[in-house]
Amino acid sequence: MTASSKTRVLVLGLDGATWTLLDPLLAQNKLPTLGKLIENGSRSILRSCIQPSSEQAWSAFATGKQNGKFGLYGFYQRAKNSYALEYINASHRRAATLWRILSDRQKKCVVVNVPLTWPVEAINGALVSGLMTPGLASQFTYPPELKDELLTELGEYIIDVDIERGESGPTSLGELEARVMRMSELQTRAFELLLDKNPDWDFGMLVHRAPDILCHKFWRYQDPTHPLYDENEAGEWGEVINNCFAYLDEYNARILEKYADEKTTVIVLSDHGFGPLTHAVYLNQYFSQRGILAYKQQQSGTLASAMRAGVKRLNNPLLGAVKAKVFEALPRLKSNLHYSMAYGNMDWAHTKAYAVGTMGNVYLNVRGREPEGMVDPTEYEAARSEVIAAMRELRDPETARPIFDFVYRREEIYNGDALEEAPDVIGLIDGPYHIAAVDWRGANGQVKNVVEKVGNQLLFVSDTSGQHRMDGILIGSGEGVASHAKFPATPQLIDLAPTVLQMLGEAIPSDMDGRVLNELLTDARAPEYAFETAFENKMDGEYSAAEEKEIEERLAGLGYLG
Ligand SMILES: [Zn+2]
Repeated sequence: MTASSKTRVLVLGLDGATWTLLDPLLAQNKLPTLGKLIENGSRSILRSCIQPSSEQAWSAFATGKQNGKFGLYGFYQRAKNSYALEYINASHRRAATLWRILSDRQKKCVVVNVPLTWPVEAINGALVSGLMTPGLASQFTYPPELKDELLTELGEYIIDVDIERGESGPTSLGELEARVMRMSELQTRAFELLLDKNPDWDFGMLVHRAPDILCHKFWRYQDPTHPLYDENEAGEWGEVINNCFAYLDEYNARILEKYADEKTTVIVLSDHGFGPLTHAVYLNQYFSQRGILAYKQQQSGTLASAMRAGVKRLNNPLLGAVKAKVFEALPRLKSNLHYSMAYGNMDWAHTKAYAVGTMGNVYLNVRGREPEGMVDPTEYEAARSEVIAAMRELRDPETARPIFDFVYRREEIYNGDALEEAPDVIGLIDGPYHIAAVDWRGANGQVKNVVEKVGNQLLFVSDTSGQHRMDGILIGSGEGVASHAKFPATPQLIDLAPTVLQMLGEAIPSDMDGRVLNELLTDARAPEYAFETAFENKMDGEYSAAEEKEIEERLAGLGYLG
């Protein structure tokens, strides 16, 4: 261990970790590293942001701000004044990250695998980008020469594992598990390598993505209450998630032993929690039944029906590897494919509002704002109230439980320069329901059941059985952290950036929305605030038209386009 006389903060992210999974393992002493950190420090639920999706949640962590300031509302979001969907990356984020702020103050940062850090930003230290990086061919490290060093030192590197496949046989499930484990090992070693190269680091952060990936895919095998639970399958795959937490605990032990001295503050956190996914909700179909949205008459031979045929073929697991390669080469293609399927058949002239994405984001179709807007601006509030009322009435037919835990007008939860780009209505799901904007079952507008239990039919492209929840985890330990802290209010993700700055004795930008979690600190001081200088994102995250065209042709050549 390198001896250090200065306070450092080490953040270990467990993407998607949740106490409902960790507590039984802690009770059986299967996570000794986390157990020791909790024993010597403090633990809490950590409330995610809205929506609790990894790209937004890690941005909330990194910026200490809510979405109206950092300007991201989904993995793909609407391009301005258009129905087109854009696949987002770090170039779309409109607020400074913690490592940007610390770098500007000459603090040294080592950041590995935080989602949405590509394109990479130049920092004081080193960075390896995570989820939403286009692939290994891209420039995914800062400094740039680090990429070759990493690949030489480790032999290979894995940025993320694509789980978007359909039916999975045992072989591919086993392969997925092995590949996720390999990814975690490589990323842990990359983090160690970078800390070794930057022994004077002040802020170190590694995000383990494995729990998120595996909880999406393997939830059904370890949850006897899940509709797809099967005892035999559970015998084979029921321990995959638990085993993952156990090996990550060992990796984290290795990191702590080597790099956390007595002056190091350790934070372990997740960006959101996890729970079962049991139902698909066809929100746009529901809007169509309520007269809020209209589909054109389905015609065979349209692009949408060709795409539908193509996507059914993508569902073939034999094609999974090819598909993963194609999407790695051009992630924007995913959004194009999705867009054509979801919105290619929309009758905009008769559509007041429509849902985008898998969580509950809804845009109104406003005249003068959308290309074919039909809601007169003077009718905006009335139309929005109609949509909100409809969403609040949508219930699980079996349990009568509301699908949405909350339905908000955007200005009720967001504020800032990017508010105008937010969905007009935001439905928050903190239960087992997954919005499917695209109906893979048949013709749009002709299906009766808008809430359907997961089964063997294709309900969405990924056959996931777990999904995000609002309540994640927070553990603090080491230098300056109170033991068994009591939190008067549940800590939120946006509280972490100001808290880390406080731990490092740094002033906090006055436009951060989070609060310093003083109850977590032994030395509770009044925070010092600084005026933040305007942040301008200068990253270039565009894919060239040539890249896009090339990949579309390749896809068509493979027969993916029908
Ligand atoms: Zn996540």
